[in-house]
Amino acid sequence: MKKSILIATAILFLLIIFTVVKIYPFISAMSKFEVVEYDKNLTLVFGGGGNTGILTGEKEVLVIDSKIMGGKSKLFELVKQKAGNKPIILVNTHLHADHSQGNSLYKGNTIIAGAYTKEQWIAENGEEGMPTEWVKDSKEIQVGDETVIIRNKGQAHTYNDTVVFLKKRKILFFGDLLMIGMHPFLKKKDGSSITLYLKKQNETMDEFQPEKIVPGHGRTGDAELVKEFQEYFTDTKSVAEGKSEPDKIEEKYKHWIPFLSMSGTRETINYWREELKK
Ligand SMILES: [Zn+2]
Repeated sequence: MKKSILIATAILFLLIIFTVVKIYPFISAMSKFEVVEYDKNLTLVFGGGGNTGILTGEKEVLVIDSKIMGGKSKLFELVKQKAGNKPIILVNTHLHADHSQGNSLYKGNTIIAGAYTKEQWIAENGEEGMPTEWVKDSKEIQVGDETVIIRNKGQAHTYNDTVVFLKKRKILFFGDLLMIGMHPFLKKKDGSSITLYLKKQNETMDEFQPEKIVPGHGRTGDAELVKEFQEYFTDTKSVAEGKSEPDKIEEKYKHWIPFLSMSGTRETINYWREELKK
């Protein structure tokens, strides 16, 4: 009897250790909160969920993505400091919680997202903090001396991925249409399509020709970032097609962070397999 309890306790202990080790990189990426004052009016905030931009104008403050867990409240405090009594315009690049769970804190302000149906939004996030405006194609707003283009790129990572381009600064906020150092979370229900990912990335780069890119997760950079991410899709595709060894590709991307146990090299390869069947 005693022996079986001991074995069960040991198994449980090992399971807990295994889970903690597995999700640690993700939790650590989500709890990071790094504030970079890019220029006088533009602040970038990394971690705490998806990457965020705060653009301060004379009359309003624009926020790109509202983060999750502890990051959402820290971000809101920072936004409030910058906004004072000015209205806040929040843009969600897409409906995943790590980019939109903080929405409820912005009650009474404008919240913009791509044209998901209300049912799609509620199924993912509930009713609280639901966007007040849905962009079907494109919307342009002026914040101080910056022209902000909010463009719904349609289906790729989800059904309505929105990118935000700051025209004067030539900075593109790519949302999860671009992720660096983190495996993309691909979900059929949300409309993820790797083929469309590549198409929309190329289209967006051709149209805006940004000098600086802020991905949904990971470090900022230039057009090289897109090449890096596309190489990941090319590598995983070649395994799906049986043209290269999975172990080699897994080794190459072993430093990329999985989204809990829902994304990873193997998950992307399997997603490719399903997509290539069509
Ligand atoms: Zn996402």
